[in-house]
This record gives sequence, structure tokens and C-alpha cells, in this order.
Amino acid sequence: MPAFLTHEQLKDIADQFGTPVYVYHAERITQQYKQLTDAFTGMPVTFFYASKALTNINILKHIRSIGCHVDCSSINEVHLAVKAGFAPQQILYTSSNIDFSEILTARELGVHINIDSLSNLKKFAEKFGNSYPVGVRLRPNIMAGGNLKISTGHNRSKFGIPVEDVNAVVDLVNSTGLNIRTLHIHTGSEIKDVEVFAKGIEVLFELVPLFPQLEVIDLGGGFKVPFVPGEKGTDISLLAAKVKEEFDALEKQTGRRLQVWFEPGKFLVSEAGYFVTQVTVLKQSGDIRFAGVNSGLNHLIRPMFYGSYHHIENISNYNGSQLVYNVVGNICETDNFAEDRPLSEIREGDYLVFYNAGAYGFEMASNYNSRFKPAEVLVKHDEYHLIRRRDTIEDLLQTQLIVEE
Ligand SMILES: *Cc1c(COP(=O)(O)O)cnc(C)c1O
Repeated sequence: MPAFLTHEQLKDIADQFGTPVYVYHAERITQQYKQLTDAFTGMPVTFFYASKALTNINILKHIRSIGCHVDCSSINEVHLAVKAGFAPQQILYTSSNIDFSEILTARELGVHINIDSLSNLKKFAEKFGNSYPVGVRLRPNIMAGGNLKISTGHNRSKFGIPVEDVNAVVDLVNSTGLNIRTLHIHTGSEIKDVEVFAKGIEVLFELVPLFPQLEVIDLGGGFKVPFVPGEKGTDISLLAAKVKEEFDALEKQTGRRLQVWFEPGKFLVSEAGYFVTQVTVLKQSGDIRFAGVNSGLNHLIRPMFYGSYHHIENISNYNGSQLVYNVVGNICETDNFAEDRPLSEIREGDYLVFYNAGAYGFEMASNYNSRFKPAEVLVKHDEYHLIRRRDTIEDLLQTQLIVEE
């Protein structure tokens, strides 16, 4: 039975800390991580949490405490990971179109680096030769993921070095001694089909003979979790069995035992997160019942940005009769959270909880409309910890400099 927070707990937290509030459940994160490590028992596998999903330092510290490593998307995330106590060898920086200076900083910090352009790889090779092993992010030309916005490995994607240009990487190795330790792909998010990972492995395995110093195949993240009730996520046991089969076969064929790395983001934190809002206004328009909440696309942008489904429950009247609502926000912009959604009858003041709010929820929040960002609460051992206070009006002005009139 997956660990979850009860309606009573969520109501208590909303009463105690106010709304809107993001709530995270530490034990659920632990459980998701354990599901991965259990499935891959006996394999040389390492999981790097893709921290861009949720970077509150308390979450990073929890991730570290359970033995998971961390993958970063910016040099600032690398700095945060260091502050959270990760050792350099537990930190991976998978970059995309970044300034070379960030790669220099990452090297000084001693973290693993995946480089995603020939331009930066060349600069790196010329400066460091064989002295610092690196990974290359390749674009395998595989269409994958829940929708085009979150598909990152297809043949028009900005990510990675196109696999058809791999000879240019080999030329760099030959001319500079560059030590390619890792081949990396990350083809998208919400990949349900295990065959997509199998296809990625197939593309990378063909390249193994080109890189004698290769030690790691990094298959990225993108495991799907259920969003709609009854929906299935990626079958992790099936994935583990497939990966094991492929890597065993490679070893048999070539005598090379490669490590496997993964970078799960959503899988670890999506279901551990809840977003609790309060209904401010009910409005009837023809046959549409609007339920306006004290939040908007500034706090949870996924429905408007990706068309994502977030399951919603009225935890203040859970057993009320079912009616159909459009749940909308308070931003001066169309910000529908849900349309034609059956929900228990809503009264003004009721708490609505949004599920799967742990990944890319708070992390993509902004102060648009000069609204405050929500507070964040971590539930650990059934205790509630405020891990980010709500903004104040001073916060909105904090980085602004006033010009004398
Ligand atoms: C975003 C990202 C991930 C994580 O994706 P999820 O869908 O959250 O698992 C992994 N690796 C890289 C390089 C990413 O950019």
C-alpha cells in the first residue's frame, strides 16, 4: 500500500499553515526510491534524483539521507546540492546549451558532467584532454514521452549531440585524448512504454565499441506515474528485467560490464506532493459551475502549460453529492485547472486538494500578478514542518532597487 496523507492531515495542515500550500510526504519519496532499488537489486545501478522537479533544500537533504544521488539542470542546482550535503561524486550535472563557464565551475567542484553540444565538448577536450572523465548527452532520435513539450530525444529536439554526429565525438577523443566515461540519453517525461528504454539501449550499445574508456550508460529519467485514477505508470519490474537482460547480453558479447544510471524526477516526488487550495468564489454561468480557488497558473502551471490532468478532491465535503465543475484560478489570464470535472458539492471556503503536485508544481511557480508563492510543508514521521514560509509584500520588493524621484 503506497504511503499517503489522509484528508484529515491535509485539512489540519491547511488550517495550521493557511492555503494555498504545497505538502510533501517524506515517507512516500522513500518508498518510491525503494521501489527502484528493489527492482534493480544485484545490478550496478545508480539513481540520480532530477532535482529540477522539486528543489527545496529539505527535499534534497531527504533524498540524500535515503542514499539517492542527485542530477542537476543548472549550476545553481549543483550549488544547492552541495549545500544539501551531497558529495561531488553523488552529483551529476546534465547541461543543456549552457555557457562553458558553468562547466568549468562544475569541474572545479568535482561533480560528474554530461555535456550536450559539440561546441562545449570541444572546449572541454582542448582544455582538459584525458584528465577529467565526462559524459556526452546524445540525441537518439526517438520520439517519446507524454506530449511534444516533454519529448526531448526526437530528431528535431534541441537536446544532445545528434547521434549521427557521433564520429565528431570520436575525432575529439582521438585528437585530444578526451575520456568519455558516460553515454547519456534522456528522451522525455512520462514514458510509459518500456520498449522506449529498450530502443535507447539499442542505440547506445551500437556505440559502445567506439569508446574504450566507457564505464556508464545513463538512460535519463522520464518514468511515468499515474495521474488519472486507475491509470498505470511505467512497469518498473519489467524495465529492470529488460535492462538486466540487455546489459547481461552485452557483457557476454563484449566482456564489458557497464554501470547503469537513471535520473528519475517525477517518479520520486510527484505522488508525494499535494497542493491544497481554498474555494473563494462560486459562480454559475449558464450550465457552467465555476469554482474559483485562491491560486492560479502562477502556482501550478502544468494544466495550462502541458494540458496536464491533476486529480482534484473536495476534502471539506468528500461525501457530498457529485456535481460538475470548472475549477479555475484567480489570475487575470485564463487559468483553468479542470473543466467539466465531477466533484463533491463545493461550498465557498472548502479545501480542494490537487494530487501529483510534488513534481514541477512549486518549482515552476512564479509571482505573476504579484501574488505570493505558496508555503511548503514537509510531513515526516507524521510531523508537520514548514519548509518555506509564504511570501510577504517585502519579498516582492526585495530585489528591486528604487530610483530616486
Ligand atoms: C527533467 C529531466 C529528468 C527527469 O525527468 P522526469 O520526467 O521528471 O523523470 C531527467 N534527466 C534530465 C536530463 C532531465 O532534464
